[in-house]
Amino acid sequence: MKIVLLGPPGAGKGTLAVKAKEYYAIPHISTGDLFRNNIKNETELGKKVKAILAAGGLVPDSVTIDMVKNRIAEDDCKNGFILDGFPRTIAQAEALAELCDLDAVVDFVVDNEDVIARLSGRRMCPSTGRLYHILFNPPKVEGKDDDTGEDLIQRDDDKPEAISHRLEVYAEQTQPLIDYYKEKGLLVDIDASGKPEDVFENMKKSL
Ligand code: AMP
Repeated sequence: MKIVLLGPPGAGKGTLAVKAKEYYAIPHISTGDLFRNNIKNETELGKKVKAILAAGGLVPDSVTIDMVKNRIAEDDCKNGFILDGFPRTIAQAEALAELCDLDAVVDFVVDNEDVIARLSGRRMCPSTGRLYHILFNPPKVEGKDDDTGEDLIQRDDDKPEAISHRLEVYAEQTQPLIDYYKEKGLLVDIDASGKPEDVFENMKKSL
């Protein structure tokens, strides 16, 4: 199973990717995670892309495509993979089509209002990255991490002004890809407004 996941920030893509990875026993490849790991390990690639990620820009297509090409050539991708965060441009989508035949492109569809409610209520433990939601997944003690007891923080990019901007950027970047994959008959729309378990059931059925 070779699938691509699309969906705005706050659509629950990360949670669903973990479920899909376990269920289909294929790796979850997030290009954002790959770049962040390279930066953390101070690799040549990491040095090249550090400033771009910090500024929220897109890494050049050639660099991103090479990285994905190498990753999907690895042994654990023999039976497929879940791509998350890639492709982001038509050039990347075309390069991917040269590398393999996808089974489906899953588009998680969710209203902007829902996304804003989800993201603006999100809180994070600064040291472990564990996520909570003030309404949907609150910590045991308000404002404190369940394990470490540290004060939870709100990520800067989860503040309302930043969320609107992220949604605009997402729509701008992704609409051409949605049109591209729709035309190829690969797009599968999944309503992502419900609970993650229900969304995942729908996704399994649709695939
Ligand atoms: P993400 O975790 O998917 O939001 O990605 C974090 C950052 O990594 C993005 O803001 C980009 O700078 C970079 N990045 C991730 N995936 C891609 C991609 N497919 N093309 C270009 N840059 C990317």
